This record gives sequence, structure tokens and C-alpha cells, in this order.
Amino acid sequence: MKPKLKVLLANPRGFCAGVVRAIDIVERALLKYGAPVFVRHEIVHNRFVVRSLEDKGAVFVKEVSDADPDRPIIFSAHGVAKSVPAEAEAKNIHYIDATCPLVSKVHREAERDFDAGRHIILIGHAGHPEVIGTMGQLPEGAVTLVEKVQDVDELSLAQDLQLSFVTQTTLSVDDTADVINALKAKFPVIKAPNSQDICYATTNRQEAVKHLGPMCDLFLVVGAPNSSNSNRLVDVARTAGAAKSLLVQDASELDLELLSGVSRLGISAGASAPEVLVEGLLDKLGEAFTLDIEPVTIREENVRFNIPRELRDLDGAPA
Ligand code: SF4
Repeated sequence: MKPKLKVLLANPRGFCAGVVRAIDIVERALLKYGAPVFVRHEIVHNRFVVRSLEDKGAVFVKEVSDADPDRPIIFSAHGVAKSVPAEAEAKNIHYIDATCPLVSKVHREAERDFDAGRHIILIGHAGHPEVIGTMGQLPEGAVTLVEKVQDVDELSLAQDLQLSFVTQTTLSVDDTADVINALKAKFPVIKAPNSQDICYATTNRQEAVKHLGPMCDLFLVVGAPNSSNSNRLVDVARTAGAAKSLLVQDASELDLELLSGVSRLGISAGASAPEVLVEGLLDKLGEAFTLDIEPVTIREENVRFNIPRELRDLDGAPA
């Protein structure tokens, strides 16, 4: 007889509205323009998603200059620096922007504050495509990046500089609150965004994991190693009290030895991880254990973003 395993399934988990929109844009562009359609960088941080789009005719490239100038190119959900569409325009390349509207909101905020004469502090992870895209909305030197409280402590900026801050959308809610408090303590009149930049999907997924973490001996987050929001979920589970928390890309990465001594397992998935990967994980667990699966929903989500006008009303496209 198989041993029993209680599985607490965090809800919401997995795909957010920005990821659904970005994938939809690639699929519709393939429908409208035929293959190949080029995509600059991973459309979202998930190799399963990237491979399935490749199978349909998408070609992923690093830069605009790597693509066929006669074919459309799509920019990823993370957003791009202004120089990227500018390059496409200069080369007369048709581009479609799949930047998540919640990332675009941060871009506009930073631009508005810069136009009002402020220096921008961006809280985010160096090298992440979203951070590169947000910094690239403004001229060099207009944005200072900080990652942690220590960076704020070490900031030395001219006294008369008017400041505002924005953040990456996929950060840890709690860690970012600490960085914001440090900024406000050091620069009491720093301007905050009108509404928080960490997006609804990041916030909800972290809240669900925070709720379940203390009840779990092990917490598994399905997601890619380069996915910021997935990595944060692993951190949140650990901080919330899960004895152990781990990132797995899919079932093939799960070592069942890890389950030895585990009676309550928590599972979530990052915003770029498709549900089919969670199902694969449950199937593998089900081969070794008798599962008692309990979905725990802390919030319903019904966010949906419009797709670009040129890709609406296509025959054969999902409604
Ligand atoms: Fe948009 Fe948030 Fe999803 Fe990023 S995680 S694509 S900001 S909804």
C-alpha cells in the first residue's frame, strides 16, 4: 500500500493575466502572419512555454538585429528599453509589444516623475529584463537601482535632488516594504508611486504561500530558475515557516527522496508556469503516494488584459 500524503494546493497560483496575454499575442501573431514570428527574449520565463511556442513557429532571438527584418517581432512581457522599439522602427521592422500593462504602468510612472524633475530610485534585481526595460525608459543616469536595505544605506545622492521611487513588479512584498521604509527614513520627502508597483499576481501568490507555508513540511514551487516571482515564492514559503522549500521546473526535477518524512506538502507555481506542469508533478507524486489534495484559495482572480488591436477579431483565435 502507498503511504498517504496531504497536499495543500495554493490558490491563486500559476499564470497571471500578463503571461496569458503575452502567450496569446504570440499565438495570434502566428495565426495572422504565419511562421516564423520572431520573439525577442523568452516571452515569459518558462522553457515549457517557450518550447511549445517554438513548435508552433515562433523563433526566439536575443536582439532585434538577430531577427529577419521582413518578419514581425514581438517584445516580451517583461518590457523593453525605449531603444528596442526605436531600433525596430529605424529598420522598418514590424513589432508587436507584449509588455504586461502593469509593467508599462511602472514605465509611465518613472517617465512622469522624471519629466517633473525627479531622480528615480528603482527597487529591483540587477540584470533582470524588467529592470533593464524600466531603466531604459529614461536617459542614462536618471535612475539609480537598489536591491536591498544595505544599498539604501550606502546611497549618496545630492541633497537638493528631488526623488521618487518605483519597483519591479515581481519582488517580495515584505522585503520591498523594508527597502521602502529605509528609503523613506533616509529621504523623508521621497515620492511614492500612486499605487503599489508589485503586481496583483505577485501579491496574491505570495499571500497564498505565506498562508500555507507554516502548515507544510515541504513546499514546492513550480517555476523557472530565472523567474523572479517563482524564486520569491520559494523565499516566502521558507520565511513563513515551511521546514523546506524548493523550486522545481517540472516533475522530472522532483527527487521523491525529498518526500521522505513529509506528511504535508505545499505546492504553488510562479506566474509564468503553466498548470500542466503542476498536474505533471501531482501525477508523479500520485505514483508514489495516496494523495489527499486540498486546494486552498485565499483570493479569486479575474484580471484580464486586452490584446493589441491588430490581433483582435482573428478567425480561429480564442475568444
Ligand atoms: Fe504582469 Fe504581474 Fe504577470 Fe508580471 S507577474 S506579467 S507584472 S501580471
